[in-house]
Amino acid sequence: ATVLAIETSCDETAVAIVKNRHILSSIVSSQIAIHQKYGGVVPEVASRQHVEMVNLAIAQALEASGITWSEIDAIAGTCTPGLVGALLVGLTAAKTLAIVHQKPFIGVHHLEGHIYASYLSDPHLEPPFLCLLVSGGHTSLIYVKDCGKYEVLGQTRDDAAGEAFDKVARLLNLGYPGGPVIDRLAAEGNPRAFALPEGQISLPEGGVHPYDSSFSGLKTAVLRLTQKLQATGEPIPIADLAASFQATVVRALTKRAIACAKNYGLNTIAVGGGVAANRGLRAELQAAAEPHQIKVLFPPMKFCTDNAAMIGCAAAEHFDRGHTSDFAIAAQSRLPLSEVMTLYA
Ligand code: ATP
Ligand code: MG
Ligand code: FE
Repeated sequence: ATVLAIETSCDETAVAIVKNRHILSSIVSSQIAIHQKYGGVVPEVASRQHVEMVNLAIAQALEASGITWSEIDAIAGTCTPGLVGALLVGLTAAKTLAIVHQKPFIGVHHLEGHIYASYLSDPHLEPPFLCLLVSGGHTSLIYVKDCGKYEVLGQTRDDAAGEAFDKVARLLNLGYPGGPVIDRLAAEGNPRAFALPEGQISLPEGGVHPYDSSFSGLKTAVLRLTQKLQATGEPIPIADLAASFQATVVRALTKRAIACAKNYGLNTIAVGGGVAANRGLRAELQAAAEPHQIKVLFPPMKFCTDNAAMIGCAAAEHFDRGHTSDFAIAAQSRLPLSEVMTLYA
């Protein structure tokens, strides 16, 4: 199926046209520069920017695709999870286009979109596989059983991996978003310069949870260490700090993903979300998986962070299975991944 998809769950106004697992066009208008001066995303500002940009992005995506409205089978929009005011803009635009052009409408779960980003690298990927979803708001190990069928096997109990990158960058005065700049600095630093706590979830019956993670203690440890280094009056070894922090996050994620894939007998790990762009994670997970004959798949670099191509890819598959949404579905700040199919009831 050919789908026009709109994504406005956070600070990217994105529109794409996707034919099954292939991208015909993808427009991403990022608001990063606007939110940078506040050190993070300001919800009200995000909504207004989406209103400002969405019609232009739709026109650009259509133009770049080289196809006409008559060749589009359905219109999709991200409806959950995210900032409600931001979601509402793209969702309303999608519903309106569907009504005007008399096409079916498909509401899409943003995290299912991040899972589907890996299909853009390998259109032959088929469930079952394990998805390591590492984004700004989520860190989960997801058993992908089929389109729309997901079981979350592990998750963070506090900060998400991307959130940890953003918070550590902020305390080191590196600006927003933190992931790309820490990734860059880490490449020049010594990952063994500082020993930092990986963070674990203890089980009441003893031992640690094999797949759940925790990153807030790591963030606090970086803060304490930075204060201690500052007190010496010497310049802070920022690249070593970035490298040591990144290595700790990467180790925690790699260990859990490999253990989970092995225990569930899954021989493919597909990574998704903004942190999937991290060069340290890409290298280490790949290397750790090889001896276990586990295949690791990453989305194309620019489809790790938010985009509409991944939303269109998920929507196209739902459409092919006869799943379309009621126009009454609302923008919701959250919806468990296990309840994705309620969007098509
Ligand atoms: P969610 O998908 O959970 O709703 P989100 O949409 O805001 O959250 P994404 O767009 O998937 O999150 O990813 C953004 C996050 O990815 C930010 O936290 C950013 O710092 C992080 N990130 C981006 N590039 C890199 C990188 N190279 N290394 C590490 N983190 C990165
Ligand atoms: Mg973003
Ligand atoms: Fe996202």
